[in-house]
Amino acid sequence: MAEIPKVKIAVLGGSTTIGSGFPRGYEGVKVIADDLVFETPFGPTAPFTHGKVDGKEFLYVGFHGITREIRNTEPDSSGERVFYVLWKAGVKKIIGTALCGSTNRLLDPGDAVVPDDFVDFTTKRPQMLMVSLRDKGLDVPRFSYRLHQPLCPSLSGLLVDACVDAGFPRVFKRGIVGVAEGPRLESPAEIRLRWQNMGIDVVTMNLVPEVFFAREIGACYAALELVSNYGEGLVDPRWEGSTAFSDFQKRWSRPSAEAILNVLKAMDPDDESCGCGGLRWESILL
Ligand SMILES: [Zn+2]
Repeated sequence: MAEIPKVKIAVLGGSTTIGSGFPRGYEGVKVIADDLVFETPFGPTAPFTHGKVDGKEFLYVGFHGITREIRNTEPDSSGERVFYVLWKAGVKKIIGTALCGSTNRLLDPGDAVVPDDFVDFTTKRPQMLMVSLRDKGLDVPRFSYRLHQPLCPSLSGLLVDACVDAGFPRVFKRGIVGVAEGPRLESPAEIRLRWQNMGIDVVTMNLVPEVFFAREIGACYAALELVSNYGEGLVDPRWEGSTAFSDFQKRWSRPSAEAILNVLKAMDPDDESCGCGGLRWESILL
């Protein structure tokens, strides 16, 4: 098993970046080590890549750490494994990416949404990383946190600029993500009643627990939600499952990867002016 390196930046890839080769083959990127599997109290992780760009080291894991063996649901979920590694590594800035369906009628496939809020509709995901670790017998701090500005405004601002530069036709600098348990997609009535009527803009499966585990470990989180399809029954039913996703990835995976790398180049991993770090504190409970 690999030793967890000290790194301040992490990228959680999703379906968005699959097929892009990320982070190999991009200008200025050096791969320090590949296929790094880390041991955690929840079991081994999915393979990480340890890379460097513009003098800044980062860890990358595909599919948010989900594999055929590692699920995103409790117990011993991908989120717990990945965020144990990021906590031990000392990560302070995280960018996650995922494909999503539109539940706002103004959105089209190919639109990039950099969200500013979320609603958690999942039912099987872990809620507190430190509680999960304590359940494994570890003596760890107890944190409480606020989720006002759940997505980092500074990191999100950089991501918006990077998506514009990467050529996305429309980039939205705010939006509410509804997080579904999945893995199935939604019915037309669910899209209408549960998502559209609740004021939710896009629906995805991969933002929970990442967005609040980031807060728990004291890191900033920003997300690139790339609209790959209309919500079922919303605008146009003419998209065909795996083919649509495959064609979509071919077209947009490389611009997504380039946008993320440009954020890595532009960011200062030690910048705390956004205030995200001050939104958690040590607690006697939990
Ligand atoms: Zn922040």
